[in-house]
Order: sequence, then C-alpha cells, then structure tokens
Amino acid sequence: MAQPNKKQIQESFAQIIAAIGDDSNREGLKDTPKRIACMYEELFSGIGKDAREALKQHLTEDKHKEMIILKDIPFYSMCEHHLLPFIGRAHIAYIPNGKIVGLSRLAEAVDIISKKPQIQERLTSEIADTIDSAVKPYGVLVVVECEHLCISMRGTKKPGTTTVTSAIRGYFLKNDATRQEAFALINKR
Ligand SMILES: [Zn+2]
Repeated sequence: MAQPNKKQIQESFAQIIAAIGDDSNREGLKDTPKRIACMYEELFSGIGKDAREALKQHLTEDKHKEMIILKDIPFYSMCEHHLLPFIGRAHIAYIPNGKIVGLSRLAEAVDIISKKPQIQERLTSEIADTIDSAVKPYGVLVVVECEHLCISMRGTKKPGTTTVTSAIRGYFLKNDATRQEAFALINKR
C-alpha cells in the first residue's frame, strides 16, 4: 500500500498558505500544514488498496437468491478536479448467486473506494464492479447521491444540489421489473 509523503504535503501546504498571501507562521496557521498532512493520510487511505479483498475474505456460501439491499451507506470523498469534498450516500442492491457477503464489508468497500481522489461517476461504477468481481452475484445495482462542495461553494454556487448516479450490472440490466423493484425500494423513505 502506498504511504503518503507527509513531510512533502506539509511543506507544500506551507507554500500554498504563503502563496494565497497569508502568513504561515501566525498562531492559527502555524500547525495547519501538519494537520492537513495527517488528515490527508486518512482522507486518501484508499489509494493502492483493493476493495475486492475486503469482500473476498468475508463471503459465505448461501442458497439465498432474493434481492439484498443495503441503503444509506454514508461516505465522504474528494473530487479530483478541485480536491474539495463530496458527501453522500450509497445504496447497493444485489442478487446473490451462491455467495453472500457481510453487510458491513460492503460499507467497508465503499469506504476504501471513496478514500482517494474521485469523481462520482467512477466511484459509482467502481462499487458495482468491485461487488460484481468479488461476489459474482446474478446482478448488482448501485445508486449514489451526493452534494459536491465544488458546486456549492464555487463556480455556479448552488448549495443543496444533489447529483445522482447509478451503475447496473447483470440481471438488473436484463429484467425491467427487478430493476424497478430495486429502485423503488432504494427510493422508499
Ligand atoms: Zn469538483
């Protein structure tokens, strides 16, 4: 697993603070580069990790062949265009094919995939492809809803805007009724 160069992050942020015209030695800012370096280690801890491993180690043989849905998995990620957070929830539906996976492991996989510079579209398909390849279900459907701070704080400045993306694999693509059932259950509040 890649380890971030914390010293380099720290030095770089001291330069950024100077470059925006503030004083990186003043009381409130003097430890900020160090704090950011520690924070970045956590925020980007998914770099170089394979989320499939988190799932593969926790598969159970099971004959259950009905849809399983895990809703409202909270996550925080960083948009790769601005390195500002996007914050949201992921919803996962899958139909097992001989193997089920621990529900908390699905949440862990979302966590790993979100902890690197991302875009919402890729994050969504990465979650679906990870489950597809590690669990080999009949089908998987992922919906992700997010607020992007780069949309809320800057540019068009539209706070409260939600971006919704989905990724659909396997049986959910072929069967309209099953896909609609999954979307209905995910959207039910
Ligand atoms: Zn952005």
